[in-house]
Amino acid sequence: MATVSVTYAIHRSTRCRGIRLTVKPDGSVRISAHPREPLGRIKRFLEEKTPWIVKTIEKIKARGLCTPLRGPDMEYRRYKSRALLYLRTRTKKLAKQTGFTPKNVRIRNASSRWGSCSRKGELMLHYRLVFLPPDLCDYVILHELCHLMHFNHSKSFWALLSQFVPACVSMRRILHKDGARLASEAAAHYGANQP
Ligand SMILES: [Zn+2]
Repeated sequence: MATVSVTYAIHRSTRCRGIRLTVKPDGSVRISAHPREPLGRIKRFLEEKTPWIVKTIEKIKARGLCTPLRGPDMEYRRYKSRALLYLRTRTKKLAKQTGFTPKNVRIRNASSRWGSCSRKGELMLHYRLVFLPPDLCDYVILHELCHLMHFNHSKSFWALLSQFVPACVSMRRILHKDGARLASEAAAHYGANQP
């Protein structure tokens, strides 16, 4: 069996009844308990819940959410308008190619997603996409555009996406495994967050 090390933080609050356990997107574990809850009981509770904690962390890792995508605020302010211009231009071009046109394209500095598509047909894209290799950036835009047709990750969705990105499965893997690191490295290379 593989060894998993886990970081815990115990949060004591008088508003808390019993012991509550949350696994955060970065894989750390937060325990909330009343100040009078004895440490011994918290420890026993944790021991009982260890299989669940390990399973949840593994799920999070499989989804690739462990590295936060969020860039520094200063960098976001500096690149926001340039990123919006680039991503809108790129989206327009890819929309023509696919025939799916979003109502609007907005950007943000999110911590866990490169992009999303709302039911209203609005695309939300991460500004740090501009620091990724162009084919990965295009993959994210095309992925979100295909959600305008299929609002899910069904077989039909992937079949549609693979018409525009034949290597979509490996692109997805690279993006989730290395995307955050690649973007950070490129941002550092360009001195994006240097004063
Ligand atoms: Zn999706």
